[in-house]
Amino acid sequence: SQRLFDPLRQLAEKFTVIQSGFTAIERINGIMREAIDIRDPEFPKSLPSDGKGEICFEDVWFGYKPDEYVLKNLNFTIQAGEKVALVGPTGAGKSSIIRLLSRLYEPTKGRILIDGVDIKEITQSELRHRIGVILQDAFLFSGDVKANISLGEDYSLEEVTAAAQSMNVDRFIQALPNGYNTQVRQRGTNLSGGQKQLLAFARAAVRDPRILVLDEATASLDVGTEYLIQQALDRLLVGRTTIIIAHRLSTIRTADRILVLKQGEVVESGSHTELMQSQGLYASLYELEMMSMA
Ligand code: ADP
Repeated sequence: SQRLFDPLRQLAEKFTVIQSGFTAIERINGIMREAIDIRDPEFPKSLPSDGKGEICFEDVWFGYKPDEYVLKNLNFTIQAGEKVALVGPTGAGKSSIIRLLSRLYEPTKGRILIDGVDIKEITQSELRHRIGVILQDAFLFSGDVKANISLGEDYSLEEVTAAAQSMNVDRFIQALPNGYNTQVRQRGTNLSGGQKQLLAFARAAVRDPRILVLDEATASLDVGTEYLIQQALDRLLVGRTTIIIAHRLSTIRTADRILVLKQGEVVESGSHTELMQSQGLYASLYELEMMSMA
């Protein structure tokens, strides 16, 4: 079906969080299995230290198989600090865009630039510090809460606590039997869905990345948790360039710009109001969605 906001049933398929630090990611068994073998350049460049987080897709083509393009000739620039929502029917290519930007895959043709530098020319470690990636359903591993937030990096307890506080998750952690030393079970089975999401936000916050890449969770949560998460998300986005696969209507409506994808191409671009006025694909998908919610 041609649903605008990928429905709940996709949630089960997407059980991954990819976050800073490939060393840590490599430990998360299997997460890189389908990704291609990506190597650091022999003489890596650095991103400008004063770079503000501008993202540029330049003539980007991409396919998982040769000659079968799922992204076709993408050309767009996301200004530093801009919030961009990706919408479009299932299979349109939204997740693939996020995977390319996180460099889990590389474009077949074209380039992706961050602050003017091709992401192929920098180390993966540098990329992971510049971009925070939060995919559906936080990936937690067995280890304590602090390790799950630090994800293999050397943050002090103070830094971790500050990040947790900024995401409103500190109080829940303090209430756990051993606070930040509480063991998280594999996949976080001893935490609620909302708690896992909040931990994923804290994990992103502690790195303070200029760019956030987000696949907004679709799991339904109770009203109280939903509110906490909305608040945390609002705070996390402040001052960061954001590219988000949006599932909540509120996120889509408040985005600075919406890129509408169809079969691997950007077919519309504009704010919610602009796109509603132009009465194209977005408007019809939006009305369908509204009707299906009624
Ligand atoms: P969306 O996120 O908009 O639902 P995707 O980027 O996941 O779209 O998918 C775009 C296209 O790429 C779809 O046709 C999908 O079947 C295909 N695709 C996605 N992931 C893979 C993969 N790992 N291997 C092969 N094809 C894939």
